[in-house]
Amino acid sequence: MGQGLGPDAQKGQPGLGRAALFGLCPRCGARTLFEAPARIALSCDACGLDLGALERGGRLAGVLTMVLAVFLIGAALGVDAVLRPPLWLSALVWAPLTVGAVVFALRFYRTTLLYRQYEAARAKEPAQP
Ligand SMILES: [Zn+2]
Repeated sequence: MGQGLGPDAQKGQPGLGRAALFGLCPRCGARTLFEAPARIALSCDACGLDLGALERGGRLAGVLTMVLAVFLIGAALGVDAVLRPPLWLSALVWAPLTVGAVVFALRFYRTTLLYRQYEAARAKEPAQP
């Protein structure tokens, strides 16, 4: 316990949180990055950028989800043990919180990863005239 969100929380790329929240394409900035709440689209509808090729680390995202879920369940059990709220109240509070936190963590993680892949791919290509 006592771990933070990891070394990934860098502040070098402004707007990454916004990009994750709205699912902004790294090339054209359209809201096309996610086809489902936490799933990257295959390609951008606006500019045709191949997002599927840029997305890597799907398995890692799964591990992250599990770690977060376990942490939240642990926190929920801790609150339960201390406060002993009625079960319906626990469900009411923790179900949306868990889902929301997992979905946003996934979105943020995938957006960060995808933007890094995009920067790396762009750095390798010769400059377009
Ligand atoms: Zn695009």
